[in-house]
Amino acid sequence: MSAVLSPVKTTATLQAEICPACGASSTQAGHAWKFVNARGETEWLRCNCCRSYFMDRGYSLENEVSHTQTMTWGDTEHGAQLNTFKQRMYKSILGQLQKHVQPEGKSLLDVGCSYGGFMEAAKDTGFSVCGFDIVPQAVDFVKAHGLSAECCGQIRDFRGSTRTFDVITVLDANIYWPDQASELSDIRNRLNDGGLLVMRVVDKSWLATVGAGLQRISPERGRKVLQRAVNDHRFSMPIGSLLGLLRKTGFHVISASPKGAVHSDDTSLTVKMAFGFGIALWQTMGVFLAPGAVVIAERSS
Ligand SMILES: [Zn+2]
Repeated sequence: MSAVLSPVKTTATLQAEICPACGASSTQAGHAWKFVNARGETEWLRCNCCRSYFMDRGYSLENEVSHTQTMTWGDTEHGAQLNTFKQRMYKSILGQLQKHVQPEGKSLLDVGCSYGGFMEAAKDTGFSVCGFDIVPQAVDFVKAHGLSAECCGQIRDFRGSTRTFDVITVLDANIYWPDQASELSDIRNRLNDGGLLVMRVVDKSWLATVGAGLQRISPERGRKVLQRAVNDHRFSMPIGSLLGLLRKTGFHVISASPKGAVHSDDTSLTVKMAFGFGIALWQTMGVFLAPGAVVIAERSS
């Protein structure tokens, strides 16, 4: 008897079924733009529920690992160099965190730990740290430096020695998740009562809106702006929508600001100026036009 084979598409050609930013059905989304970036040619949609832009391509962990390994932060040499480059952000986030929790003896899980730069910095302040990442070489690197790490793609697959944590950090990692709403719920379930979630997020959705408009007038200029806006991310979510999603998934937002989100003292002057302008605008008018932000949220009881 011959096997009955159903038509098979490669995962890369499957359409996204949900908005990865908020979890709404992708039928609630309209076409935004099509362009070529580090992931090849991709079509992007705009979610009518959370106003995020997202890539209309199904998620495959295997593809995501291969893709990350082709990026500078996915290879061991450059990934390890980023540990030094991002010290300014690590120190700033730990400074903000210590206003709410005394690190000594507290557990911290770093989601998407990459080559362990933040884990090292958090350990130096007194946290008991562990992490996970999708890139096996990154996990091996972290373990070789004496820190506890696992290779997995989502928190529900993380085994670890501890069931729940005092602090969970997600630094520049949520933009690669296939289903942020479900991941945030799972993170909440792995926090102790009153535990803290700290996210360093990218929000250049405002720049993506500019790029999408520009693309209609000048395709090449529009493409360049869109590439800067979304890099290789899977979605681009307005910060206001993210804060709403955090509340919906059981968090109380303590703070959210572009302050402290600058990666490095060596970050380009243009980006530093964008942050300076963005911080001033956010603090005076509540308008978000910065490249990124640090969000601290507490698990609601
Ligand atoms: Zn959405």
